[in-house]
Amino acid sequence: MDRQQEFVLRTIEERDVRFVRLWFTDVVGSLKSVALAPAEVEGAFEEGLGFDGSSIEGLSRIYESDMLAQPDPSTFQILPWRGETEPTSRMFCDILTPDGAPSAADPRNVLKRQLAAAADMGFTCYTHPEIEFYLLKSPDIGPDGAPVPVDYGGYFDHVTGGVGQDFRRRAVTMLEAVGISVEFSHHENGPGQNEIDLRYADALQTADNVMTFRTVIKEVALQQGIYATFMPKPFSDNPGSGMHTHFSLFEGDTNAFFEAGQEYQLSTTARQFIAGLLRHAPEFTAVTNQFVNSYKRLWGGGEAPSHLSWGHNNRSALVRVPLYKPNKGQSARVEYRGIDSAANPYLAYAVLLGAGLKGIQEGYELPAGAEDDVWSLSSAERRAMGHDPLPGSLHDAIRSMEDSELVADILGEQVFESFLRNKQDEWNAYRQNVSPFEINRYLGIL
Ligand code: GLN
Ligand code: MG
Ligand code: MG
Ligand code: MG
Repeated sequence: MDRQQEFVLRTIEERDVRFVRLWFTDVVGSLKSVALAPAEVEGAFEEGLGFDGSSIEGLSRIYESDMLAQPDPSTFQILPWRGETEPTSRMFCDILTPDGAPSAADPRNVLKRQLAAAADMGFTCYTHPEIEFYLLKSPDIGPDGAPVPVDYGGYFDHVTGGVGQDFRRRAVTMLEAVGISVEFSHHENGPGQNEIDLRYADALQTADNVMTFRTVIKEVALQQGIYATFMPKPFSDNPGSGMHTHFSLFEGDTNAFFEAGQEYQLSTTARQFIAGLLRHAPEFTAVTNQFVNSYKRLWGGGEAPSHLSWGHNNRSALVRVPLYKPNKGQSARVEYRGIDSAANPYLAYAVLLGAGLKGIQEGYELPAGAEDDVWSLSSAERRAMGHDPLPGSLHDAIRSMEDSELVADILGEQVFESFLRNKQDEWNAYRQNVSPFEINRYLGIL
């Protein structure tokens, strides 16, 4: 038993914790939870808790279904929304095979492997997500067939008497109570749309935080009698919900993306990292934008990127280099704007980091930045400038991913295959569905 494990056991005892939830995620990023009695925690630390992996999407096949969940003591938290008396706590788990080896199918393990690859190159990876979501009156649609937002505010609006403000205050307090530091929160462009930005942390911790964040936001909304959704594009005519994520690589205490005197103070390492993101984006977009609905966001305007481009102060770019404050080289970072709020954060951060590292390893050349608004160019101009489109649909994204050696390598064979199978099933279900759009458009005239 190590010191962290002992600390957890002591806290459970002292705080009289009644339930210890073990959390992990399936291949699409749904949170899975099993509640343990306190007396079972020591055994779970030592041997893991056995469960049927074949019932979890993408985890194991029916003939090798026994899996173990081993809690990571560094992620122990009391869950404040369960109340003060008889507290409930949680720990994230690593998934092991019956012989005790890390499971290749566990998304958390996929990210850990990628972080180890970064460490072999001398890098620690930090991420900082900006998470957008909508607050709705309920999950039901209104009389006009669209969801009903809680307010009609826009970007940075202070909505007097709106539930959004109260919501953000409670949500931020709750997030801080589970150890997640929040930097900013504000109303976003869409009606009822909000954004909360988490403080940067190492990429594994951020991915855990994103999973916790979604749960906290949904819980706080329920407490207020409203509904929160991370669906990438809930309204046809309003912006989608992105999860822009800022990446930086550190070598010891030095930010490897910073070099004074260079264009935008970007080091060669940073330029190669961006080049890796741009070159491989079509191959990994099925992972960062994994639902049919994700492509309604990417192709529906509302400041979502749709072409391969990078820029400095350009909101149409897929990759943006934010302005650093003078003498703030340590804050040098690269923002990937393609990813949406419904991505599996472990897999998405693994492919983004992996693509960036590939750019560094192979010394990719960074194409010229886009100073223009990429959306306002003609397609011929975009082609001439090398701004190829991102995949136009989940189908296109699956096709690009299928041929990607890089993504297969990052995800590992098992996750690569189960992920593609899951996405192909989703595409097939969509393809054969006759939608209200088609009925409205064709039935009366054809
Ligand atoms: N909602 C936009 C997106 O989907 C981003 C808007 C913004 O943060 N400026 O990416
Ligand atoms: Mg923002
Ligand atoms: Mg935003
Ligand atoms: Mg942003």
